Amino acid sequence: MTNIAFIGLGNMGGPMAANLLKAGHNVVAFDLVKTALDEFVNIGGVAARSAANAVENAQVVISMLPAGKHVAGLYLGNEQEKNGLLTLLAKGCLVIDSSTIDAQTSRSVGLCANDLGIKFVDAPVSGGTAGAKAGTLSFIVGGEVEAFALAEPILNAMGKNIFHAGPAGAGQVAKMCNNMLLSVLMAGTSEALRMGVENGLDAKVLSDIMVKSSGRNWALEIYNPVPGVMDGTPASNDYQGGFMVDLMNKDLGLALAAAQASDSAVPMGQKAAELFKDHGAEGHGRLDFSSIYQHYSSKKV
Ligand code: NAD
Repeated sequence: MTNIAFIGLGNMGGPMAANLLKAGHNVVAFDLVKTALDEFVNIGGVAARSAANAVENAQVVISMLPAGKHVAGLYLGNEQEKNGLLTLLAKGCLVIDSSTIDAQTSRSVGLCANDLGIKFVDAPVSGGTAGAKAGTLSFIVGGEVEAFALAEPILNAMGKNIFHAGPAGAGQVAKMCNNMLLSVLMAGTSEALRMGVENGLDAKVLSDIMVKSSGRNWALEIYNPVPGVMDGTPASNDYQGGFMVDLMNKDLGLALAAAQASDSAVPMGQKAAELFKDHGAEGHGRLDFSSIYQHYSSKKV
């Protein structure tokens, strides 16, 4: 049993913290939203008055926050005043940041933690809110081998697949690469299916052909973007549930910024980002990202 401070009880953090409680850990949580804290208390958790209060006896700190600025603000605080949460942690404490953020912020927090004798891993997740509830998330971890070994048993209470991608920041880079590829596969699959349909083919027949041919990919196999082709997909449920276009746009923004920083050529990622951005701007930001299929028509693309 470990004393864990959990910061950020949102759509993902709430169920993740609940799974830590179920696994028998002592979890003290903090969120800026009171209702999120009340729900956590109702399931047997302890609510803190502040992030500083939450970490008072913590051996492990986990954060699940919206973006890099929130993570930097929490751990590093104000640069002049050096009042970040890291300065309050005991030496040897382990920090796990599971937010999806830019790799540079992860590396900065990792460096500062290291200077203070604190262990740090970035551990962004894949699997969405359903995976967070079911405790089946994939964690893509960046950090030193020793820190990864300490984090792994804690992450096992919230996830199924725990990967070590490399040093601090590597978890974020691996997640960005995966999601950029996913956006390209989903856009390409939608494009091919739409062209087939516009040439008189049945979407299910074409899907069955391509899934057994060289165009086979994850989107065709498990997440077909055409309504009615596959049971249980967001496409067959008015594109509700799943992975929102707004979140894909956030991840593509991070991927393009990383590509720019490393001077990497990502023409396919850039084009996919443009398509998803336009689709979101047309009011579809809260739909599942496979709704990009709807964006493909002779009028729109
Ligand atoms: P969310 O907006 O539902 O939750 C974020 C929570 O953080 C909110 O409750 C907010 O009040 C709290 N918060 C913000 N600043 C805080 C601070 N300084 N102190 C304490 N609490 C603070 O977001 P989410 O959907 O839970 O996503 C969290 C992270 O996980 C994001 O980085 C997101 O990109 C990533 N992610 C989300 C999904 C998904 O399907 N929702 C999937 C994979 C990864």
